[in-house]
Amino acid sequence: MNILIIEDEQKVAQALKEGLENENYAVDVAFTGEDGFFLLNSKHYDLLLLDLMLPGRGGIEILKTLRKNEQDIPVLILTAKDSVEDRVLGLDSGADDYLVKPFAFPELLARIRVLLKRGREKQTFYLQCADLEMDLVKRKVKRGGQEIVLTLREFDLLEYFLRHRDRIVSREMLAADVWKETNRATPIDNLIDVHIARLRKKIDGPFQIKLLHTVRGVGFTLSEDAP
Ligand code: CA
Repeated sequence: MNILIIEDEQKVAQALKEGLENENYAVDVAFTGEDGFFLLNSKHYDLLLLDLMLPGRGGIEILKTLRKNEQDIPVLILTAKDSVEDRVLGLDSGADDYLVKPFAFPELLARIRVLLKRGREKQTFYLQCADLEMDLVKRKVKRGGQEIVLTLREFDLLEYFLRHRDRIVSREMLAADVWKETNRATPIDNLIDVHIARLRKKIDGPFQIKLLHTVRGVGFTLSEDAP
């Protein structure tokens, strides 16, 4: 398990690194947000420990950028800021958990274990958007607790939308990634639209809140919020 620490106080960062390495985690440290971003984009991490008060780009800004770029790495904020507003801002900005300094190291370890476990489950077995749920192990889809039966293609399509939740998905992306159609000379836009229409009927038809939206001229988006 790879952990990245973004923390400008070198002593704190070093102590964390040593403590976590003793627990057999592989740990990298960045002292600035810029270095942190560079590492996040060049290597896979399972967890980010993020300080809020950083020189230059602050922790909240880093977090918002990560989430905007759909990087769903679990983030645990470590900070001396302990006001309720700061906690709420951190969580609203996409943090998964929050620990106020000074904290007990065993507590940090316990929270890290929870986030890593949750991250794994999230990545592998289970996807969700509002009350629409996909279980990738049982290959079952439910909305509002009711099972929805999908064809293989519809399932793959929905999985792709769930993995790109709140993001715009173009027909080109669907052709390449879901249909594995690399030959651009044979556009399959109509075929895609037919499948989207069927999928939409099944997942949105009977429900008041629509999740699969058309973004005119661009593609589609699966989101709780209409674009
Ligand atoms: Ca700091």
